[in-house]
Amino acid sequence: MFNRRFRQVIRIGPVQVGTFYDGRGRERHAAACTAPRCGFSADFASRAAAELAARTHRCPAR
Ligand SMILES: [Zn+2]
Repeated sequence: MFNRRFRQVIRIGPVQVGTFYDGRGRERHAAACTAPRCGFSADFASRAAAELAARTHRCPAR
């Protein structure tokens, strides 16, 4: 999912958080786990929500 144009990409544990603009130019915030067998990813309306999801992600593949 990080083939989209992300900015302010950070990493929290195995999870990357990045900010992007959706098709309508609105700011969205994505969290995606980099562990190969996990597959967790989600979009959020706020950066804080995305970072919280990254911090609280319990990775089954770690
Ligand atoms: Zn994970």
